Amino acid sequence: MWRSSTFPVRARLLALIVIASLGACADHSVVRQGARAPQAPRPAPRVLPNSQAYQMCAANLQAAQVQFQPLPNIDRGGGCTTIDTIKLLDIGTPTANLGPMKCQLAEKFAAWVRFAVRPAARLYLGSEVVRIETFGTYACRDVRGTGGTIAGKRSEHAHANAVDISAFVLADGRRISLLNDWYAGGQNAQFLRTLHQSACKRFLTVLGPDYNAAHKDHFHLDLGGTRSFCR
Ligand SMILES: [Zn+2]
Repeated sequence: MWRSSTFPVRARLLALIVIASLGACADHSVVRQGARAPQAPRPAPRVLPNSQAYQMCAANLQAAQVQFQPLPNIDRGGGCTTIDTIKLLDIGTPTANLGPMKCQLAEKFAAWVRFAVRPAARLYLGSEVVRIETFGTYACRDVRGTGGTIAGKRSEHAHANAVDISAFVLADGRRISLLNDWYAGGQNAQFLRTLHQSACKRFLTVLGPDYNAAHKDHFHLDLGGTRSFCR
């Protein structure tokens, strides 16, 4: 062990020169990469370690036989991050437009599809769900309120901690959508309202057509914050 006060001045100078030259090498490689590309180079994203919660979540997904691809942790700037995220590859029901998802969101989503969506479709509609349509997961943007986006208030989508579900396609060809069926009454609406209720038990925030016009065509499901909000 050495203390910085006793560390020889010459050695510290040498260390500084080594650090400075390493930095120069990194800068050089970025410039060379940029020279091959037609556009100016962007600063390299910061790579961060995974949390313990992520490790547990990944193990849970494997145990549930969900297929997924781990994604690198990236601080994307502008208050937007993809930390502890994965890409779901197979949850038993083909699902469109899934990008990066925080692992715990993905775990809840896969369980909701398996234990709520598929049984509810059999119960209310007498058919299997063969495809789930979504508007995606990660988006570096602000919260959408009734009067448009709320400037400066980042959405949970900006952290890949939210997913927007728009429709369910059945084996017999029927397509049940939030836009067309939420207020339509009958079994289609009953199916969607049951899914909304079950989502409220699994996710922290659930927003649908009853919340505001910005959600007239999808369920927004997220795990942000600490208090549940179901509307
Ligand atoms: Zn959303």
